Amino acid sequence: MTEKITIGDYTVTVLVDGYSHLPPSAYPGADFSRLPGLLREDGTYRIRIGAHLVQGPAGTFLVDAGAGELNMPFPAELAEANGLSNPPQHMASAGNLPAALAAAGVTPQDITGLFITHLHLDHIGWLMKDGAPYFPHATAYYGAEDWALLVDAAAEDDPARMLMHQANEAGILRAYEPGDHELLPGLSVLHVPGHTPGHVVIALESGGQKMWFTGDLIELPSQLTDRRIHFMTDVDRELAADARDRLFAQAKKEQIVIAAAHLTNPSFRRITDNDTWTDATTDVVTA
Ligand SMILES: [Zn+2]
Repeated sequence: MTEKITIGDYTVTVLVDGYSHLPPSAYPGADFSRLPGLLREDGTYRIRIGAHLVQGPAGTFLVDAGAGELNMPFPAELAEANGLSNPPQHMASAGNLPAALAAAGVTPQDITGLFITHLHLDHIGWLMKDGAPYFPHATAYYGAEDWALLVDAAAEDDPARMLMHQANEAGILRAYEPGDHELLPGLSVLHVPGHTPGHVVIALESGGQKMWFTGDLIELPSQLTDRRIHFMTDVDRELAADARDRLFAQAKKEQIVIAAAHLTNPSFRRITDNDTWTDATTDVVTA
């Protein structure tokens, strides 16, 4: 089933590249015994890896770019530390984005802009394929503050580092300018450091409707109200929690649709007056 939503003159479509199965320890501060229904039978929480396709008057874009072809075995020590007797084979597997794009009737050549929320591998994977840009006509925008930590300071063989070096050599990269500003008519960037130093939120506004692509600002639905829950790769947990408080208060007030990179069921959310989630496509209250 293809998930999509209309925002004014734009259509936004979820492109599934793959899934990651994460153990409870990936979410410090979360008590999964009080969050029924989240963990699967194998004891992991399944998140989507992918991208959002944005089609409208300003062009055809992606927000984030999946993980690329990836099969990461589930680490035995992580299974043991989490008491998982029958863990999934893979912690992350991806590679479906080309098929998802084709199913949406779009070719890689059609994409003219890639708006990357941050430089973790699961958001940049399809920038390059076999050493060449996978989207030959697209400029890839990224948060400059991520480069020192996630590229320069990463290990020589770190996949994200190698990929960003290739993308840089291919000349497809451009850093977002400092400060929150409009990128194209209706499309803006908000600098929201916390999960990573250069993390951004992409804002879409059309026909009086607003949507935010929040990247990894939120990793578990209950982080909407519980600021004790963090994520293993949050670079600055307090800054990330502060950013959630601030942005979700505004999103609630202005009824902005939230499209978080990794949240599903629903993929497009609104915040009610009672600080719960609704499905933005049906307005049904959800977990
Ligand atoms: Zn992510």
